[in-house]
Amino acid sequence: MFTSTLLAPKTELPGDLFGAIADLKRELNAVILAHYYQDADIQDIADYLGDSLGLSQEAAKTNADVIVFAGVHFMAETAKILNPNKLVLLPDLEAGCSLADSCPPDAFAAFKAKHPDHLVISYINCTADIKAMSDIICTSANAVKLVNQIPVDRPIIFAPDRNLGKYVMAQTGREMVLWQGSCMVHETFSEKKMVQLQIQHPDAETIAHPECEPAVLRHARYIGSTTALLNYIQQSSSQSFIVATEPGIIHQMAKVAPHKQFIPAPPLNNCACNECPHMRLNTLEKLYLCMKHQIPEITLPEATQQAALKPIQRMLAMSA
Ligand code: SF4
Repeated sequence: MFTSTLLAPKTELPGDLFGAIADLKRELNAVILAHYYQDADIQDIADYLGDSLGLSQEAAKTNADVIVFAGVHFMAETAKILNPNKLVLLPDLEAGCSLADSCPPDAFAAFKAKHPDHLVISYINCTADIKAMSDIICTSANAVKLVNQIPVDRPIIFAPDRNLGKYVMAQTGREMVLWQGSCMVHETFSEKKMVQLQIQHPDAETIAHPECEPAVLRHARYIGSTTALLNYIQQSSSQSFIVATEPGIIHQMAKVAPHKQFIPAPPLNNCACNECPHMRLNTLEKLYLCMKHQIPEITLPEATQQAALKPIQRMLAMSA
């Protein structure tokens, strides 16, 4: 699917990467948009840090000439769909997404054809081709709100994340036809280890992202998007939290609530497999190189860009 890793020619790195990136940002009139799951260094240098909804809203209103997207491929594609005339750079073109990959366009087209009267609502974590086949895009922050706006007699296909789909069905009481995709990171949390951790930390509140499996979600006191989790830990009177989502968000949680304790929810194995391997392909060095050489660039066929734009615009209008 991706044709290259880092295309930049061999370049000596400057001693002060932070300073060099700031200089390039001014020269290019660039904005750096970063997801909460990026490394701490990238989070610290970003002009805007957010989850999928916040990042797409920011991409829609930026005046910058160049968008440097520190996230994964589908997110940079979304920025390109919203800004077809701007240069959109992704530090590592191979920063993909297991969830987006779990919904191949040909198979999804056949699935959709079997349900011709259904409205298609797709989670933003999908490729531009899937967005182009969708009626409305949603994020984990607005999925419940958007589904609640659809007339009750209108059948719905929800793609690609079955766990988010099940969560939305439980919250709205709506039956939906679910595409059976999932995120490798959010499916890796162990219910058994989570319960053991809760016993070890009886005062800690468990909070989780709705991409987690129902078996994990049922142990969470609060479920929300990445931004909602970040807001929640500030408002809650609890002093410690077990956090069931990609642990990159803990960098921001510790910044906004330094006196509180954040315990990453345990994965099934003892490795760091609750870190998203795709997100972590981006590094500060690659971010500098992509700005220096203005590659790798995100490009899309015009027909795909235009078809994918409409459901994103519907989402932005419906969630305003
Ligand atoms: S955490 Fe999951 S959904 Fe998010 S980019 Fe990684 S693989 Fe995709």
